[in-house]
Amino acid sequence: IEIVAVPFFNESRELRGLVFVFHDISELKQVEQIRKDFVANVSHELKTPVTSIKGFAETMLDDDSIDPEMLRKFLTIIYKESDRLQSLIHDLLELSKLERDEFKINLNRINFSSIVRESVTIVKDMANKRNVELILDVNDDLNLTGDEQRLKQVILNLLYNAISYSKKDGKVHVSAYKNQQWLTLTVKDNGIGIPESLIGRIFERFYRVDQGRSRETGGTGLGLAIVKHIVEAHDGFIEVDSQYGVGSTFTINLPITHGLTN
Ligand code: ADP
Repeated sequence: IEIVAVPFFNESRELRGLVFVFHDISELKQVEQIRKDFVANVSHELKTPVTSIKGFAETMLDDDSIDPEMLRKFLTIIYKESDRLQSLIHDLLELSKLERDEFKINLNRINFSSIVRESVTIVKDMANKRNVELILDVNDDLNLTGDEQRLKQVILNLLYNAISYSKKDGKVHVSAYKNQQWLTLTVKDNGIGIPESLIGRIFERFYRVDQGRSRETGGTGLGLAIVKHIVEAHDGFIEVDSQYGVGSTFTINLPITHGLTN
């Protein structure tokens, strides 16, 4: 609590008393702490790949007797770590754009069914490589008012996660349907699931249940924070249902009309 004393005077400018103003600064402090944590997280996340890139490049420069096979290994690591850096910078810029107050979604009448299909096509290779089966159950005429690029990003992020956190013989069900008011998309996997006590935290920036696994699959820890922002910018909401070791279902609900009439 911060206390400020403000004097007040009568018409003859005589001091009549003091008004004490109590500011509850705990919320401000909290915001400041979140900001500090964020900066610390970003620094840490950026430092790790850079340290590794620099280290391997140095080794290659210092020692010219490294055999070609080893060189290739080092270069592969450098390539992967640069790739990581690139995704991280991309996601950070996205998030910062979304969090700025003036951020506007670009609303148009769009066909959601085709966005879902396009997104599924994009992740097909990744799914094949990991032996994950994609099962699609999407009605044809799902139209809504929304931002096509952003919504595609939402669907892709959910699909990437469902595939990344799958187990052997994974299956990912994607379904979309609507009622009078809401368009609903569910992405259901039979993957590793999320411990119940941690479900509430997965939308936080950089929060990961398993740091190692997330890194291994190229995760930045920012995907779901971005998803939540975009869904809420559409006046929608996101829900998660997950059982540790069994699988997870992410559901997004979007109002069919947003600003525009049908
Ligand atoms: P990441 O880049 O690490 O995947 P996200 O913000 O997309 O970051 O997700 C945050 C964390 O939530 C992940 O690190 C993972 O622990 C958990 N998570 C997200 N989606 C799933 C899923 N489908 N199954 C299991 N865990 C998941």
